[in-house]
Amino acid sequence: MYPTPTPRRRPNCTALRARRTLRVPATSPSQVLRSHSNGPCPRCGHRIEWHPRADHSLLVLHPAEFTTTVVPADWRWELSCGIAHPHGDATPWCRIPHAILCPAHTPDPHLTPHLTEVRRHLAVRTRILLDTGRLTPLPPTAPCPPTADLPHTPATAPGAPPC
Ligand SMILES: [Zn+2]
Repeated sequence: MYPTPTPRRRPNCTALRARRTLRVPATSPSQVLRSHSNGPCPRCGHRIEWHPRADHSLLVLHPAEFTTTVVPADWRWELSCGIAHPHGDATPWCRIPHAILCPAHTPDPHLTPHLTEVRRHLAVRTRILLDTGRLTPLPPTAPCPPTADLPHTPATAPGAPPC
């Protein structure tokens, strides 16, 4: 007879490390596993997507694409293999940094009428999230997600950090 093996106990490593979930975004053409790529904006509660840039810094993009005709050229981004690049090809679609549309920021004076309307819809939804208690507003000194270095950097409210 063989002795009954003592069950091995795994060290409780998961308690020491934060859990990271990897997944393939449904809209990803590259099908590359990524972590922390989606989530709500801590300021407005809307879904945002984090993408690395070529210099490995992170950029927060609005999850929807826009036609390039309604987005100023300096705000246009595109994704290639999960990496965010300034829009440079001839496709009529682009992505836009979330900070431009985030209703928690003061609207940029360069917003086109279409982007102003999108931003207004997001502001209404943020108001609903706040009124129903599904979004807790951050204090004005809380850090913001990284954004692109934009020529038309969105203005911030007085007392708010520059996001
Ligand atoms: Zn936001």
